[in-house]
Amino acid sequence: MSEVEAQRQKEIQQAEELLFAGPQALGFAKGLFQGHFVADWVMPYPRIPAAQQTELDKTLAEVRQFLDEHLDPVAIDRQADIPRAVIDGLGRVGVLGTTAPVEFGGRGFMQMANCQVLEEIGSRCASTSVFVNAHHSIGIRALLLFGTHEQKQKWLPKLVTGEQLGAFALTEMEAGSDAANVQMQARPSQDGSHFILNGEKRYITNAAIAHVLTVMARTPVPGSDRTAITAFLVTPDMPGFTILEARMPKMGIRGTATGRFALRDVKVPKENILGPPGKGLKVALTVLDFGRTTFGACCTGAAKTCLRLAVEHANTRKQFNKTLGEFHLVKKKIARIAADAYAMEAMTTITASLIDRGLEDYMIETAMLKVFTTERLWEAINEAFQIYGGSAYFVDLPLERMVRDARINQIGEGSNEVLISFIALVGMRGPGMEFKEIYDTMLKPSRGLGKAWTAGMHRLGAAVRIPDVPVRSAELRSFANQLGRLIWRFNIAVNRALIAYREPILDLQLVQERIAGAAMDLFASTCVLSRWDAELQFARRNGDSAPQTNHAADLFLRQSFRRIRRFLSDLSDNEDKALLATANSALGKVS
Ligand SMILES: Cc1cc2nc3c(=O)[nH]c(=O)nc-3n(C[C@H](O)[C@H](O)[C@H](O)COP(=O)(O)OP(=O)(O)OC[C@H]3O[C@@H](n4cnc5c(N)ncnc54)[C@H](O)[C@@H]3O)c2cc1C
Repeated sequence: MSEVEAQRQKEIQQAEELLFAGPQALGFAKGLFQGHFVADWVMPYPRIPAAQQTELDKTLAEVRQFLDEHLDPVAIDRQADIPRAVIDGLGRVGVLGTTAPVEFGGRGFMQMANCQVLEEIGSRCASTSVFVNAHHSIGIRALLLFGTHEQKQKWLPKLVTGEQLGAFALTEMEAGSDAANVQMQARPSQDGSHFILNGEKRYITNAAIAHVLTVMARTPVPGSDRTAITAFLVTPDMPGFTILEARMPKMGIRGTATGRFALRDVKVPKENILGPPGKGLKVALTVLDFGRTTFGACCTGAAKTCLRLAVEHANTRKQFNKTLGEFHLVKKKIARIAADAYAMEAMTTITASLIDRGLEDYMIETAMLKVFTTERLWEAINEAFQIYGGSAYFVDLPLERMVRDARINQIGEGSNEVLISFIALVGMRGPGMEFKEIYDTMLKPSRGLGKAWTAGMHRLGAAVRIPDVPVRSAELRSFANQLGRLIWRFNIAVNRALIAYREPILDLQLVQERIAGAAMDLFASTCVLSRWDAELQFARRNGDSAPQTNHAADLFLRQSFRRIRRFLSDLSDNEDKALLATANSALGKVS
């Protein structure tokens, strides 16, 4: 076996251990890849229970009032700092412990409610929303999810009020996109009472202002010469903890303190381990699932701000004796932002509800949400910027800041390229395993035909059946039927790709991108359809016999379906060979 092949097999084995432990209920995204529409997870559109909605409304009112009175995004950007008074205030209105249990001083909100709070903050100031995310969505998340009762009792009360701040430290020089390549070492002490940590972390939000950091480091696997990642709670008062750079000067989200730190023989008690030793990567990925959900919420808030700004300007600025909003090319931009903002909110709500409703595995959905919302927001800001023309370029308007702030979204918490690959490959694993069963049996009939027969029947079943998309509103049936057909076509495309490429598909990122792109739009369309259906049902229940058309939802579905068809047809009609040859030639590599 070649070195490359050996490395590939090792990676596949690690991914299998990490991502696919034991049988799980079929989630929505995995269902899509198998040609099913797993309606229970997405329809009817989820709602926050009435009691919590009342609490949430109260909190949102308090948060809005606080932000109106005390949040100055321009000053935060210019001074590259979020004032302590703002952080304290966010703590007072509950934002720094929204989902933490009430017994530890948190609000005990579900993820759907948390997303509404983050959407509000994200609509105003990206520095502040990223700060809150770094503290609450990822900084204290491992403690919330994997901490023992004693650990929570010890650490959470001060963290949920903002008296203390949290951070999440995974990234290192050698471990960026390749998060599994963490080099920070954690050696057990002779008496087993603590671990000795050595290494450096970089690009860590809140590093220099945090009182408690969740740090990923490598520990030996007992009885072997291997190491695995373990999550530790580290505090900056531990001897050997050194801040190398407190605030790395940067382009956007300038109010956040992004830092570098080193641990030099830092003794961390074994009681500070979060989750099972050696399972830190699983801890990190689960934490990031939550971060990606609130990413979606923050991007939704910012997209709504883009829409508001674009509409204001298009309705007031006149050229050629007309307001800009009268020109079709301006209308096109505004319509697209409105349609996307509607979809982003729907997708965020449904993804958050998967967490709230206890789906065991929502990795693909959170990855789809992150990629989709960050890309759509980038586009929305660009469109709004264009509508403002030259005026957007000057610092007295928020759009130049929003451009700078939004650029990190496609990179942070998993770059979009890595996530696109992840969506396609994890999604295709289900049907891929069924095909493998069939191939292996064909090669070695002695393995018995039973499993291969079942796998073949599954594949065949999905290939002949167009899934039902159960909307309740008659006026949406046509969209629902089109969506069902597209899922069926998507499944055939996935099967074809698996049959045509087999294992080499792991490297074919241009194929993966189209598969992931179609899957994301199928998910986004589903969320839009579900939300629109709920709105129509609500209107009917309130006596409105002919509710108005929701133009944004209608446009989104039409555009999304067109994109899906394009992704699927591009699988066989493309210029990939020429593209790769051009890149190889530019890179100085042989094709
Ligand atoms: C402002 C800011 C705040 C941050 N906050 C935190 C934090 O709080 N905690 C934390 O742990 N980390 C944090 N990060 C780190 C962030 O998560 C990483 O920057 C990110 O994971 C990418 O890693 P990298 O920068 O090393 O890029 P690299 O891994 O070097 O990747 C560079 C680019 O290469 C491409 N690429 C990489 N791998 C692949 C692949 N397999 N296929 C195709 N293309 C690929 C992508 O386009 C990617 O953008 C922060 C970063 C920034 C800039």
